[in-house]
Amino acid sequence: MDSVKQLFSALGIAQESVTGGSLPVHSPIDGARIADVREHTAQETNQAIEQAVAAQKAWRSVPAPRRGELIRLLGEELREHKAALGRLVSVEAGKITAEGEGEVQEMIDICDFAVGLSRQLYGLTIASERPGHRMMETWHPVGVVGVITAFNFPVAVWSWNTALALVCGNAVIWKPSEKTPLTALATQALFERALKRFGDAPAHLAQVVIGGREVGEALVDSPRVALVSATGSTRMGREVGPRVAARFGRSLLELGGNNAIIVSQSADLDLAVRGILFGAIGTCGQRCTSTRRIIAHRDVVQELTARLKKAYASATIGSPLEAGTLVGPLIDQAAFDAMQKALAQAAEQGGTVTGGERALQERFPNAFYVRPAIVEMPGQTDVVRHETFAPILYIMSYDTFDAAIEMQNDVPQGLSSAVFTTDLREAEQFMSASGSDCGIANVNIGTSGAEIGGAFGGEKETGGGRESGSDAWKAYMRRATNTVNYSRELPLAQGIRFGED
Ligand code: NAD
Repeated sequence: MDSVKQLFSALGIAQESVTGGSLPVHSPIDGARIADVREHTAQETNQAIEQAVAAQKAWRSVPAPRRGELIRLLGEELREHKAALGRLVSVEAGKITAEGEGEVQEMIDICDFAVGLSRQLYGLTIASERPGHRMMETWHPVGVVGVITAFNFPVAVWSWNTALALVCGNAVIWKPSEKTPLTALATQALFERALKRFGDAPAHLAQVVIGGREVGEALVDSPRVALVSATGSTRMGREVGPRVAARFGRSLLELGGNNAIIVSQSADLDLAVRGILFGAIGTCGQRCTSTRRIIAHRDVVQELTARLKKAYASATIGSPLEAGTLVGPLIDQAAFDAMQKALAQAAEQGGTVTGGERALQERFPNAFYVRPAIVEMPGQTDVVRHETFAPILYIMSYDTFDAAIEMQNDVPQGLSSAVFTTDLREAEQFMSASGSDCGIANVNIGTSGAEIGGAFGGEKETGGGRESGSDAWKAYMRRATNTVNYSRELPLAQGIRFGED
């Protein structure tokens, strides 16, 4: 507890904001109650929205490269506080130290990207069909961006959205997961340090509101929030998407995944085993991009399964703060119960389960550690097609590469996918229009651990949104097409002559 207090003070979180509130925060490491955070009401959230609207009106006129300077300063704060914030991610979300710090590194990387972007918000010039005319497009900020995030990437997802949204000239209101408010408060404190050094930014440019779905719903339903960027379960997206659409708002949805790796008979199995291990048991199977399904060629499935079982047996399960740990805890009891239910269903549907039991119960009676499970399935049954947010890896086999791709695509989700193969034809087919239907399709690397330079997101029930790199910034802007007539005539498009004959 003392070390948690030290982290709060190192990160600039005021003690009074984490004591006496109505939202208890438990560390998944040992189940200890580490804070009681004050929640915002829906009314306070609406007030924050009004303040954000005013802030955005001032911010949109600040030149974009100057806006980039604020993000550069944020990147500096994150560099300086990487170890402390990474540790708080471990304490609050249960990630091992390397992954907690890796998450902060991702924030730093997107800040660097956004600083460069602040000088590259390009529009096209387009050849006009009319003489003496110029046509072009300009990009303007959308307004206020509401960011709703999940517990499993408690800070990185905020930064993907906010670094881009701010350089694009928007204001941001963040509703973090009710399971991880502390890392949000710490991030906000670091942002405010950057703001202070920046000097003349409008007040309330980026705010955080704490609470459950009612607070999220205030963002979802407000016509003053131009874009709702929501990350979480498909259940949440099914509610948020139509509600935002009903008021003709924009939404950017980043929802569940059910990510598969195809392992061909030509695969380098050493690489495949390493890629699968990180993807399946990293973050205790609680990444949206976690590897959940293996589709292996019939000639290699037995050897691959045996090697994976061996690798699983030697993966250290333990406190995420201890050196050598590879598998930390599940977030809470509900996650444990969901895992047990899925394993029971898998067994009923013909699966052979190895692992999956509770671990370290004596040492951590109030926390939920598990042995990651491997389940050999006779086929892709209902339970396999459902995302269970826990370390369960279903292994299935295939005879032809076409059938493997069909099985890979035959799930409702479409986030990440990979193939391990040394056959060029298979690799190219996998990435082609008749290959993987996912937003991410990798060759000889696993499904998780994406770089920020690419656009991140997925299709079907994953929601269709794209965040982070490439041209994902366009989601945070509105496009205007401008046509300028510098001639002395007024020709109409499509050659129309109107009242001239
Ligand atoms: P969750 O859906 O339970 O909660 C996510 C967020 O949505 C929380 O902040 C929650 O308070 C809020 N919320 C829930 N219902 C809402 C509503 N009706 N209106 C407004 N806000 C609402 O998800 P979780 O358990 O925190 O996270 C795990 C899920 O997130 C998994 O399904 C995972 O695949 C997904 N995820 C996806 C991505 C991605 O980029 N595609 C990234 C991380 C996590």
